Amino acid sequence: MASLNPALEDVRFCPRCAQPAQVTFPRELRCDACGYRALWSPEPVAAAIPRDDDGRIWLLRRTLHEGAGRWTFPGGFVELGESVEDAARRETREELEMEIELGSLVGVYSRADTRAVLVVFNARALGIGRETGEASEVRAFAPSELPWDEMAFWSTEQALRDALGV
Ligand SMILES: [Zn+2]
Repeated sequence: MASLNPALEDVRFCPRCAQPAQVTFPRELRCDACGYRALWSPEPVAAAIPRDDDGRIWLLRRTLHEGAGRWTFPGGFVELGESVEDAARRETREELEMEIELGSLVGVYSRADTRAVLVVFNARALGIGRETGEASEVRAFAPSELPWDEMAFWSTEQALRDALGV
């Protein structure tokens, strides 16, 4: 399984003064010598479920390592300096070359053994999706045609079920 915090793996010294640090993996590094302290938190991931005016749902087949070859809706890590909503719009633009109008919150999905906290919004597709470097295939599925056995993540399936009420 992936490490909860690769950035703190094997770190033993203070990044500011280079003295031995107290590391509480996976969440904290503290230096008694100079007072430096760093905390690592869960990481928000923003996503949207774009639907067209016929109720079809736009999904993409991922090219990136985790979940590669499987289907999900557009989403990615929220970057410092942007809102969760901005991140959902940006990721949809990057992965599908599609503009969206964000709607209501579908849900928030997390587990203690992974760092990501997925925040999923309903969205209205303002156009059609296209293949990109992050999406080898892009398609609008009628709800009855969704590829349930080829979803990329547990949270993909759960959020789609919550969005559709199935
Ligand atoms: Zn220090």
